[in-house]
Amino acid sequence: MTFTLKELPYEKTALEPFISAKTLEFHYGKHHQAYVNNLNNLIVGTEFENETSLEEIIKKSKGGIFNNAAQVWNHSFYWNQFCKEGKKKPEGKLLSLIEDAFGSFEKFVEEFNKASATLFGSGWSWLVLNGEGKLEITQESNAGNPMTSGLKPLLTCDVWEHAYYIDYQNKRPDYIANFWEILDWSVIENRL
Ligand code: MN
Repeated sequence: MTFTLKELPYEKTALEPFISAKTLEFHYGKHHQAYVNNLNNLIVGTEFENETSLEEIIKKSKGGIFNNAAQVWNHSFYWNQFCKEGKKKPEGKLLSLIEDAFGSFEKFVEEFNKASATLFGSGWSWLVLNGEGKLEITQESNAGNPMTSGLKPLLTCDVWEHAYYIDYQNKRPDYIANFWEILDWSVIENRL
């Protein structure tokens, strides 16, 4: 199976000024593409050579194959949740679950920002649904993905430096604050 880089669901300028076209050129066009290329090269001659499901590879692999497969999946999941004109606040069942788990939407944003800011080094912060149907915030280093712990990913923030360095340099908190300006909550509701 040869995996391909999925098209972005918007133009490269669509997230400006929060995420620039230049960041998308590098983050999507170079970094994400490299994970796809690396995965395709690494699975040759392995048990994953004919696997069509990226999720199956993520659940069963380790080392370089896992790292690249998870990075391919994580980035597609990240890109697909953005739309500058999208829904700015969750409603219905998702909002109820957020209020049950964190007290309020505002408190959730605060806790998610904290998780994104305090993740040391490279990784991803996540909003996930656990096996009991409750929401949790988790941090994963490097390529980590909560599905390997049986959790269902709903939302993620890429806090690798390559996600924000062109637009924000070292100011990760500014990138994290602007993340909410482009997040489309209708996508997150549909993932539930
Ligand atoms: Mn990234």
